[in-house]
Amino acid sequence: MGKVMVIGCGGVAGVAIHKICQNDEVFSELCIASRTVSKCDALKEKLQGTTKTKITTAQVDADHVEELTELIRKEQPEVVLNLALPYQDLTIMDACLAAGVHYIDTANYEPEDTAKFEYKWQWAYREKFEKAGLTALLGSGFDPGVTGVFSAYALKHYFDEINYIDILDCNAGDHGYPFATNFNPEINIREVSAKGSYWEDGHWVETEPMEIKRVYNFPEIGEKDMYLLHHEEIESLALNIPGIKRIRFFMTFGESYLNHLKCLEDVGMTSIEPIMYEGREIVPLQFLKAVLPDPSSLGPRTKGKTNIGCIFIGKKDGQEKKLYIYNVCDHQECYREVGSQAVAYTTGVPAMIGAMLVMNGQWKRPGVYNVEEFDPDPFMDALNRWGLPWKISEDPELVE
Ligand code: NDP
Repeated sequence: MGKVMVIGCGGVAGVAIHKICQNDEVFSELCIASRTVSKCDALKEKLQGTTKTKITTAQVDADHVEELTELIRKEQPEVVLNLALPYQDLTIMDACLAAGVHYIDTANYEPEDTAKFEYKWQWAYREKFEKAGLTALLGSGFDPGVTGVFSAYALKHYFDEINYIDILDCNAGDHGYPFATNFNPEINIREVSAKGSYWEDGHWVETEPMEIKRVYNFPEIGEKDMYLLHHEEIESLALNIPGIKRIRFFMTFGESYLNHLKCLEDVGMTSIEPIMYEGREIVPLQFLKAVLPDPSSLGPRTKGKTNIGCIFIGKKDGQEKKLYIYNVCDHQECYREVGSQAVAYTTGVPAMIGAMLVMNGQWKRPGVYNVEEFDPDPFMDALNRWGLPWKISEDPELVE
């Protein structure tokens, strides 16, 4: 039993907070702290009375280490679950160190002025967390997150060595809008308009955005177009999975999404370079975010399923072996349960699980770690229990 502080109160946090409240045997207290406190208060209002978890709320600007440290010291949580934006990762890690609490997030740090995401900034905190006797668990969402746990699980139970991993993020949900993003538009568009890359034979291979396309036939969904993207877990898995030769990441995009994105790019709306507009500096991508549908409003409209998983190819007892480990999640079922679509759901559930495992000691180890560095078994059990049951196909036909 312990207290968790969730920072941020957007789409992913909303799901994690519902799950924390369902798991009130573990989370006896919860403080929801975010920039806009009215969102925290509304969620508290909705959930208290349905849970034994005692809920408090607070206003905080997580860009300011001192303000945040003061709040953490006052609230005294055992763990801080960072579900704000990747820009806040380092300030929240600093505040956790200053206040002496464990840290969990779902996305790696990105400087706001460069669309580049790498682990180097957060891995540089290893010694500080070790010395403080604190755990920092990085990337406890779905991808990164569950995909890393799937990799550790496949290695532990099915392979002597894994040589190839293809991470497949398939969203076959339809929200009915010509163009909208399923999570924070700014983060999403930065990710998909960046150059693609994959890891092969010990080095990165860079591609143009959307240069590599594959069609996969997914269980419970059917055929989908997928495009190769750079994704952060490739960087950590390349270090943590011995014998790996290639890791790639693919995501589904429909034609309408890509056409709109291309047009927005062509007219400069996805740029993160500030421009002057009527005497005021604005960032085109942030302005675009303001006019696009709020991802949290997509829940009631989105129908269909997600299928996210990893194809592993490697060796067991000298024989080549292939495996697909995946989860299928239904947008409408998620909405009925927690009021959000499956993209937020598939991130919020593993975020709660990561916080639980750090808090109950199963994943507590001083230092900074990615999820695949811990024993995958308790996480895999918790996925089945908390709403993201997984399946294993030992004869995956979906490989291109
Ligand atoms: P949202 O934009 O919906 O929510 C972000 C929340 O953070 C908002 O409540 C926002 O406040 C708050 N926030 C932003 N800046 C600050 C600040 N300086 N101080 C305090 N609070 C702040 O984003 P999502 O819920 O879609 O995404 C949350 C995180 O999850 C992101 O880091 C994203 O990259 C990650 N993610 C990870 C995935 C995975 O599988 N690993 C998949 C999807 C997302 P306000 O309400 O005032 O705007």
